Amino acid sequence: MKILSYKTSSKLLYHMSKQIQTKATLTCPKCQYKQTVEMPTNACQHFYKCQHCGEMLKPKEGDCCVFCSYADSKCPPKQEEALGIS
Ligand SMILES: [Zn+2]
Repeated sequence: MKILSYKTSSKLLYHMSKQIQTKATLTCPKCQYKQTVEMPTNACQHFYKCQHCGEMLKPKEGDCCVFCSYADSKCPPKQEEALGIS
């Protein structure tokens, strides 16, 4: 039974990792520079320093992190929410 449940959960993890984007393209609101950033999957990143102009990016009001505000994809916790996983 233990082996069976292990198989099931690793299959679920596989599907999760396929569906959830962990990399996002952040666009700096100041200089419009685009940078690809690896997102932390277990936490929200509130600040990000633009590699081009040094601007400190902060989430907009109502957003949980810089990715939700400035990136082309939502942060992993939000993606999980949308998929109904968490
Ligand atoms: Zn910038």
